[in-house]
Amino acid sequence: MIVSVASGKGGTGKTLVATSLALSLSGDHKVQLLDCDVEEPNDHVFLRPEISGSEAVSMLVPRVDEARCTYCGKCAQVCAYNAIAVLGKHVLTFSELCHGCGACSYLCPEQAITEESRQIGVVEWGHSGSLGFVQGKLAVGEAMAPPVIRKVKGYGEKDGVVIIDVPPGTSCPVVEAVKGSHLCLLVTEPTPFGLNDLALAVETVRELDIPCAIVLNRAGVGDSKVEQYCGEQNIPILLTIPLDTEIARLYSRGVTLVEGMPLWKPRFLQLLAGIMDIVDEGTRSTKR
Ligand code: SF4
Ligand code: SF4
Repeated sequence: MIVSVASGKGGTGKTLVATSLALSLSGDHKVQLLDCDVEEPNDHVFLRPEISGSEAVSMLVPRVDEARCTYCGKCAQVCAYNAIAVLGKHVLTFSELCHGCGACSYLCPEQAITEESRQIGVVEWGHSGSLGFVQGKLAVGEAMAPPVIRKVKGYGEKDGVVIIDVPPGTSCPVVEAVKGSHLCLLVTEPTPFGLNDLALAVETVRELDIPCAIVLNRAGVGDSKVEQYCGEQNIPILLTIPLDTEIARLYSRGVTLVEGMPLWKPRFLQLLAGIMDIVDEGTRSTKR
């Protein structure tokens, strides 16, 4: 079963939930945590995994042989990402904008474009106790998170529970990380910003046809509009975490909630039971 943990915005407690859920299950289940928040992976701060291997992530970008180029401009016309431009007798490439689609080299009438490999990040794997761990790191200055996320997900096991820590927001990297999940857990907080970003995240997940459920973090900090919204949208709130200075203190020290306050472990196990009920119900209704 694949469970992604996402949030419409950063700082809502996504890492807190992903790491504590993974650790709570890891004693009794085969569990893997994939940190797909590749621009700022920080699950390792809390899990302190032993890293046993790594692999570079590269993508193909164009290289222009100006000796063959006639400056016809076809490559620039076909590029949907403005990653190649023809200015007079010069062809400029902006490899950090390139999506590696290969259209420019395919369509160049002079075969003046070849593709070269360019490293954009790295994937590392290892374990923290019995918990399997994989993380992706996008290289500084790079913009193309999806290929790194795809590579991280490629290391996901086919059996057991796979928990994916998704980048914040609702853009392409989020879609890449969430797709293929059996359920997406959306972590939010009861504030107007939290509600606004939650609604966007719900829209994204529904577009992907993936069921979602809510973890309400910092309950008590704002109003009841998130609960109201979840009721109206028929989205279950599976776990509520109160606004608590002790929880914040543990987080700031890099200690997971279930390690710092073991009374939370049964609550995370209950969260898993709620997730499984929703996934099972979805499977049953698909078969009907
Ligand atoms: S399509 Fe080929 S020949 Fe035309 S400008 Fe681009 S690199 Fe040069
Ligand atoms: S490979 Fe695709 S994205 Fe990259 S420069 Fe060529 S056309 Fe643009």
